[in-house]
Amino acid sequence: MNKPSIYGLTLDQLTDWLVENGQKKFRAAQIWDWLYKKRVTEFSQMKNLNNDCIALLEENYAIQTLQEEIKQVSKDGTIKFLFKLKDGNLIETVLMRFNYGLSVCVTTQVGCNIGCTFCASGLLRKNRDLTSGEIVEQIMNVQHHLDAEAKDERVSHIVVMGIGEPFDNYDNMMDFLHVVNDQKGLSIGARHITVSTSGLAEKIKDFADENIQVNLAVSLHAPNNELRTRIMKINRAFPLEKLMPAVDYYLEKTNRRITFEYILLKDVNDHKEEALQLAKLLKNKRHLSYVNLIPYNPVDEHNQYQRSTKEAIVEFYGTLLEHGINCGVRTEHGTDIDAACGQLRSKQIKKDKVRS
Ligand code: SAH
Ligand code: SF4
Repeated sequence: MNKPSIYGLTLDQLTDWLVENGQKKFRAAQIWDWLYKKRVTEFSQMKNLNNDCIALLEENYAIQTLQEEIKQVSKDGTIKFLFKLKDGNLIETVLMRFNYGLSVCVTTQVGCNIGCTFCASGLLRKNRDLTSGEIVEQIMNVQHHLDAEAKDERVSHIVVMGIGEPFDNYDNMMDFLHVVNDQKGLSIGARHITVSTSGLAEKIKDFADENIQVNLAVSLHAPNNELRTRIMKINRAFPLEKLMPAVDYYLEKTNRRITFEYILLKDVNDHKEEALQLAKLLKNKRHLSYVNLIPYNPVDEHNQYQRSTKEAIVEFYGTLLEHGINCGVRTEHGTDIDAACGQLRSKQIKKDKVRS
């Protein structure tokens, strides 16, 4: 039997499980201290547990289920990890260095069914959802890597922007958020965590009702239905008439600012006309909006797209600013190491196919 990762349990879930199995309640806090503060990787290292408790844990759970396959280090300090899951599937996790801290980009699914036409992750259909444990473990593996370097560095931010659509794996993603946010665990502040969705309107509303301070980013990429459907087929199920009311509901309920992501694709969605349409679309929520303009990261399989020119990016940005829209151009990380989401994984899968 493949044992699940212990990292998948929230503190309450672990407490309940221990009590059901004849252990004392307080063991849960001790186990979490070993996992998240002392960060051991074997149950037998949890010195203040009795042997029965250690045996129970070993019988039912694993601490590490991911295996590091590749680690690429970029000149700018970005590190991209390719992990192999117990069932042989490959996933990616990226560590990025910012002046405000260390941010990790996590994967939530093996592949993605949303199939956006510009994205390397969507090239392969979803094979399965990740468990909450597998998502937390990505953060833990990066933290263990930092611990081994002994520079006293800590993962301070998380972006749920790796392979997959987090709102298509909603419950596991929520468990993951509760585990990493818990003060007794890694204690990563909710305001330091951002979840990005391609726009599953119903789930945006559910997320608004969660009463959690985690940031939301919506991948918009186009200011009208025709263009958005062309580049993201999810727009057929959730066109702007469904997406924008869900966004409004979120804003009203949480009063938290939303980031709108907008990949700039040369001669596709980067004209002045689209900038004006975007400004109009966001006009009534300007005070709670931020547009993140993303230079397109070329993906071999999607050669119909090119990166917008610098001039087009500057003009688009300028038009938004002129119309009072908060915006910025995303700085790139690790461009020398297959940095675009899903690129390392899709390259590795191709290599494996050639080999076999
Ligand atoms: N599925 C979610 C989260 C993962 S994708 C979503 O779509 O929001 C995270 C971000 O990376 C999205 O904004 C996505 O549009 C962007 N992205 C995907 N492929 C890209 C590429 N080739 N170049 C630049 N950004 C890309
Ligand atoms: Fe999936 Fe996001 Fe890629 Fe679209 S951009 S295919 S939703 S991972």
